[in-house]
Amino acid sequence: MIRLFVSDDLKAGAPIAPGMDASRYLIAVMRLAIGSEVALFNGRDGEWRATVVDADKRRCRLTVGSRIRVQETGPDLTLVVALVKRGRLETIVEKAAELGVARVQPVLTRRTNADKANVERLQAIAVEAAEQTGRLDVPEILPPVKLDKLLDSWDASRRLMFCDETGGAPVLEALSGVEGGPWAILIGPEGGFAPEETERLRGLEYATVVSLGPRILRADTAAISAMTLWQVALGDWLSASTT
Ligand code: SAH
Repeated sequence: MIRLFVSDDLKAGAPIAPGMDASRYLIAVMRLAIGSEVALFNGRDGEWRATVVDADKRRCRLTVGSRIRVQETGPDLTLVVALVKRGRLETIVEKAAELGVARVQPVLTRRTNADKANVERLQAIAVEAAEQTGRLDVPEILPPVKLDKLLDSWDASRRLMFCDETGGAPVLEALSGVEGGPWAILIGPEGGFAPEETERLRGLEYATVVSLGPRILRADTAAISAMTLWQVALGDWLSASTT
């Protein structure tokens, strides 16, 4: 069944009018007709069956039926990633959504040359990945901030897995016996972190410095590898919501 993310509240009988793009996707691309069923989720109310009740070339309307899945939440994991080239950043966001992060925070570092990210487009990529991957929430894409500023206001109860190609313990070793809870993974730019940045990061009491192996990885590979290893160490769990 096609899964579609919507912003509307979902409850039995609710009418849903998807936007133009979603309507076009359902009707023109997926060839749904009146009576066809889709699955809807909004990140809050679980997943619901819905039926197409009206459709023309541009817009369609759905009616929500019964709930198929209760809402569940994944780990509280943030991917903090330096702005890299657009294509690679888009890959990173897609893979982060697939691998279950809760949010992506792009950062500007001394050696990032890009200073902007198309947050709206990245968010759309995250939505699409969430739809196809079966998760019930969509990772939030935050607007880029400077690394220093981010660290200045960091909540120390969130641990930071600093991926440092200049040396650190292997991830599974570094995280063994460590508690879950709020975490973040930090991946630097293609040029690496500047020495003063590395020094600050290594000195943070909430940081765990890790190595992803003896090879220098590109930022996208490093991000995928780091997220996978973090999930292996601290559990790729889902908790059902009580509501
Ligand atoms: N300084 C590098 C490349 C940086 S790779 C150079 O020689 O140009 C981009 C980012 O990926 C790094 O900042 C780091 O966060 C991560 N990374 C790549 N390989 C890694 C490894 N083997 N261990 C830990 N982190 C790694």
